[in-house]
Amino acid sequence: MNKIGILGGTFDPPHYGHLLIASEVLSSLKLDQIWFMPNHTPPHKLNGAHSASAHRVKMIEKAIEGNQSFKVQTIELEREGRSYTYDTMMLLKESYPDTSFYFIIGADMIEYLPKWHKINQLLNIVTFVGVLRPGYKSETNYPVFMVKVPQFDVSSTMIRERIINRMQTNYLLPDSVISYIKENKLYET
Ligand code: ATP
Repeated sequence: MNKIGILGGTFDPPHYGHLLIASEVLSSLKLDQIWFMPNHTPPHKLNGAHSASAHRVKMIEKAIEGNQSFKVQTIELEREGRSYTYDTMMLLKESYPDTSFYFIIGADMIEYLPKWHKINQLLNIVTFVGVLRPGYKSETNYPVFMVKVPQFDVSSTMIRERIINRMQTNYLLPDSVISYIKENKLYET
């Protein structure tokens, strides 16, 4: 049985917070790989300051370059519109029947679990893995396996704001991603 961790997100842009939790969960749970799974930008995040899916995929590829255990999984971008995690995971289970999936979520997402589409069915097909995030609590009635990770208070929102304000972003995300953002003039308003 293969053990795959899934890190879903917007990755607009990907940063060291993402890479750190992926690496820590991979080694703590002895997983075979982590798949970074970009989603369609949720409607509430859609405005001029955000980037197209193709840019987000490119940035993830740059961020994970050289790490053989990290892959990009674009299944949600290949489908029209927004995908429910339950539907995505059902498709992945069909395509990879010999794999157990571990769905990684930061503490900011844990409180929304009761609102997830078909959450109880989803819990039957994946193991939820939670990681703490500065400023958020991890309490929930749902079975979430918590993995302790070093706390790193970085978010994509913070990085976008820094770029808009022409502040430095060094050591918050890989240099290759910073260069890509500059070359493509992302987030500049
Ligand atoms: P935004 O600021 O645009 O909302 P984000 O930084 O939260 O973005 P996402 O792509 O939405 O990034 O996050 C993907 C997943 O990674 C989510 O489960 C989120 O909770 C988790 N995550 C992101 N940054 C961190 C961090 N610094 N520490 C722990 N978990 C994180």
